[in-house]
Amino acid sequence: MGMDPQKLRRLTPLITADGERRLASMRQDIHAPKWNSEAGDMLTAPDIDTLKVFRDKMENRRTQKPGEGPPNSILAFVREYRHRSLYFMERTHEGMDLSRDWALIGLSSREDIATRPETMIPLDMDLERMVVYRTAGSTGHSLYVPNDPVAVACYQPMLDFALARHGVASPAAFGGTACFLVGAQARTVTYPTVLSWWDGAGFAKINLNPDQWPGDDSARRYFEKFAPAILTGDPISFSRLAHSGIETRPTALVTTAVAMSDGLRKSLSERFRCPVIDWYSLTETGPIGYACPVSDGYHVLAHDIYVEAVDEDGAPVGPGERGEIAITGGRNPFLPLLRYRTGDWGAMDYSPCQCGDPAPRITMLEGRRPVMFKRADGSVVNPVDISSALRPFSIVQTQFEQGRDLRCRLVIRPHFAGWQAREEDIRRAIGEVMGDGLSLEVEFDPTLGDRAEGKVISYKSDFLLED
Ligand SMILES: [Zn+2]
Repeated sequence: MGMDPQKLRRLTPLITADGERRLASMRQDIHAPKWNSEAGDMLTAPDIDTLKVFRDKMENRRTQKPGEGPPNSILAFVREYRHRSLYFMERTHEGMDLSRDWALIGLSSREDIATRPETMIPLDMDLERMVVYRTAGSTGHSLYVPNDPVAVACYQPMLDFALARHGVASPAAFGGTACFLVGAQARTVTYPTVLSWWDGAGFAKINLNPDQWPGDDSARRYFEKFAPAILTGDPISFSRLAHSGIETRPTALVTTAVAMSDGLRKSLSERFRCPVIDWYSLTETGPIGYACPVSDGYHVLAHDIYVEAVDEDGAPVGPGERGEIAITGGRNPFLPLLRYRTGDWGAMDYSPCQCGDPAPRITMLEGRRPVMFKRADGSVVNPVDISSALRPFSIVQTQFEQGRDLRCRLVIRPHFAGWQAREEDIRRAIGEVMGDGLSLEVEFDPTLGDRAEGKVISYKSDFLLED
């Protein structure tokens, strides 16, 4: 049941003999989940050097002054990609004064990635190392995002930094298992691996869904044996973990979704006796900010992104005023970002923070709030499972709502006119996820998302995670 050695070298080129033993033990343990995938960090020795440079810059260049527009490093980034990406060429013209005319550069969005990714990927990229991620779809339709191993691994020094700000040591310091990425879904990719940046410590992406484990008690015993130093996951998965009877003592819980309520954070922190750290990150952008341990808001994490709050016309709003969060820069060589609108709203605060981090804060951040749904028998459904169920259909936008009386309503903006004929297929797909005995109203609205603010909240529910 071991892994093909050649594949192992390709997925984890820097794996040591210790790492191989650790991986085998995680993979083959009698209580291990029914793994359904294989993955690794794909990092080489030169990649580790690149990561060290990234880490040092992130730690030493923590400042972004207000009211002066993008810093020179960001202007240089845009100038570079003007020659490499059709997308940048279209939006900025030769001779344009980027600093002065910044607000005139059109915003980009999810739709650009969804409908014309080929214009965003730089022309000269070697696609050999491209890996493609699909967004979870916890807040909307999922999206395919190309990335590369170094950009993905940058999560680890950023996590180290955010943990340190909360007084928590790097997961590498504990040896053993660094992290479990916890999911609670009908289906999701699962695998164990070891991470070179964290000295070969273990990592596993797991799914709490009981049918993914060999026995009733397996998940509990697996957590007990491998004792991950930290847990990452969305609030829904942590809520499920809290009710699972699994006893585990992580040094921190890091949520990969931003919209955790204060009530849920407090109850998780008491349940697992560790800090619960919010982390603002999108698949398209990578990590953007971490929750300040002292004050409100999220400090911008990395030196290589420029964060703005903008109005409907794309003009930056003043400090303290709310706008849509837009990101320029980043480290994903396949997806350089140019004023990318995140769909999240917040205000920029450049005032000195009591915690001492000079990086500006995003305050009043209101993300696309994750919710949960309930079946007739009271069991919980993760919205990502609704996204999966609807993925085969040709849909532009959806809105799925559930009231306290369990009644559901689905509004669909179809991709093609006259497509209503497949309503029965949609009902069946939703029925497979939500179970029997629920009332479901299906409505087709070709103008969903066109009105007023144009912002569709894909999932609405009267059920709160802390219920
Ligand atoms: Zn702070």
